[in-house]
Amino acid sequence: MTKTYIYADNAATTKLDSKAFEAMMAFMKSEYGNASQPYSFAREPKKALKEARRIIAECINCLPEEIFFTSGGTESDNWALKGSVFADEQKRAVITSSIEHHAVLNSCKFIEMMGIPVAYLNPDKTGTITEENLKSLITNHTRLVSVMFANNEIGTIQPIKSLAEIAHNNGALFHTDAVQAIGHIDIDVQKLGVDMLSASAHKFNGPKGIGFLYVKKGTDLSPLIHGGAQESGNRAGTENVAAIVGMAVALKNNCDNIIKNQEYIKQLEEALLSKLEESSVEFVRNGINQIPGNISLSFKKCSGEAILHRLDLRGIEISTGSACDSVNTQVSHVIKAIGVPKEYAEGTIRISLGKDNTVDDAKIIAEELVRVLKVI
Ligand code: PLP
Repeated sequence: MTKTYIYADNAATTKLDSKAFEAMMAFMKSEYGNASQPYSFAREPKKALKEARRIIAECINCLPEEIFFTSGGTESDNWALKGSVFADEQKRAVITSSIEHHAVLNSCKFIEMMGIPVAYLNPDKTGTITEENLKSLITNHTRLVSVMFANNEIGTIQPIKSLAEIAHNNGALFHTDAVQAIGHIDIDVQKLGVDMLSASAHKFNGPKGIGFLYVKKGTDLSPLIHGGAQESGNRAGTENVAAIVGMAVALKNNCDNIIKNQEYIKQLEEALLSKLEESSVEFVRNGINQIPGNISLSFKKCSGEAILHRLDLRGIEISTGSACDSVNTQVSHVIKAIGVPKEYAEGTIRISLGKDNTVDDAKIIAEELVRVLKVI
């Protein structure tokens, strides 16, 4: 018998959209031709790639030729960071934040190993990277500023438009890792004024192992993956047509329903938080101006790890931090950076609700959480 779960870890990954799944099937079963070939059997896959690029471009208001398919958020981040540095003969510096995902932080470590300086912006207590902070670090020797759109652990949305403006005023490029934001909040790259933006399909109900990097026309970026001539010679490798098609369908579906989903998820959040508040449990909520559904909570003198396992036994799936960090039981770099007091920091969990959750799920999570906290 299959166990039933309440899945509340949507910041780690999301359920595949059923329309996306259906659209993908044809390209795995019958239309399996290599889109780079000149014969008729490649016509459908080629057409599908073109259409997917058009749909995605429309969702973020850019040109189709500014979308480059990648294997996901990690590759997009690596490419934006390393590609900007590789293309810069002057070997100018990089600025990022100390609360980025490890796809950015470890790319920066590699860049530092190449002898290129990287400076780290520290957030305030709400997890926000302020304009003043960036102004104090940026110089005319800065090549790239990379600040994430919304934090994966605490959900805080950053002032991307103003940060991009500061970068440009100082002659630097601006990249944002929008993996947690795209498909969940409205993103218009023209209005934001960013040069590069990373996205990953499995965070917006698309398939895993596929994503894209938006690169504004004219941006000086070196390729990261060398090989064939795919993606206009900028990202080699035979395209995963089925996954790309699924990504486009999922993104369009989410973007078409963005307000409706936000309002619905907000209701779930309120149901969960009000149940917790009614109990005698002492907790703090981390972050501010969060991405819908991202609830980071810290409980006094508890272990987040123990809460996770006790909830898991009760069929509730949450996280202690980012999925990629779940093997690391220490207090996360994000929780440390925002200065959560030590007696609360170790008792941090992340509940991330999505459009597939129900109000009942939200209430049950809160009730079970209160029960678990009483026996821990
Ligand atoms: N950036 C952020 C903010 C993320 O949350 C994640 C995934 O957790 C990634 C990058 C990596 O994306 P992917 O899993 O597609 O490699």
